[in-house]
Amino acid sequence: MNCILCQTSETFLRESATECTHCALVFKNPKNYYTHTKDVLRYSTHNNNHEDQGYIDFLNLLVNPLVPFLPIKFMALDFGCGPGPTLSLLLEKIGGVVENYDPIFFTNSKVLENTYDVVTCSEVVEHFKNIETDWALLTSLVKPGGILAIMTLFITEQINYKSWWYKNDPTHIVFYNEKTFVYLAERFNLEIVFNDKKSVIILRKK
Ligand SMILES: [Zn+2]
Repeated sequence: MNCILCQTSETFLRESATECTHCALVFKNPKNYYTHTKDVLRYSTHNNNHEDQGYIDFLNLLVNPLVPFLPIKFMALDFGCGPGPTLSLLLEKIGGVVENYDPIFFTNSKVLENTYDVVTCSEVVEHFKNIETDWALLTSLVKPGGILAIMTLFITEQINYKSWWYKNDPTHIVFYNEKTFVYLAERFNLEIVFNDKKSVIILRKK
């Protein structure tokens, strides 16, 4: 199977998934993706919200390394905010004017007509079904010089895919190696400015 991101034919099977030798993306077979209806049902079982301290601590893994890159006041978009927008509240406390967007729960697509100083995207990119166009949209929302902050659990060569818990969520369909972000940065004219080598990567649009 050709890579669904970089289209190279140089891929190999990694357990039940496919890995690309060029961009290092690991992806499930698109034939097995959930339908939109099943996705909605699955996402509706996520009940994260701003009263859940564990969820706030989790989001701070993204917010804390983002702080040094933020101007005093900034316009931001939380792309894929889920049913209980929380990241936006954390960003508002530190000078952000923040819009929420979610393809299921906050479908105000007007906010996708603007560009932002900061775009956050937490636990979203692993759900991208049309990875090339989804990344094209995501990166198009960032102003030149602006920041894109991503959280998703990275896949590494050391992970035993077969027993890796992160892939067990059926709506998690694409997994990013650090090398995948290098590919994406080049493809979409971004520069990696922070990488925790685990789950958080921050990029600046050139
Ligand atoms: Zn690839």
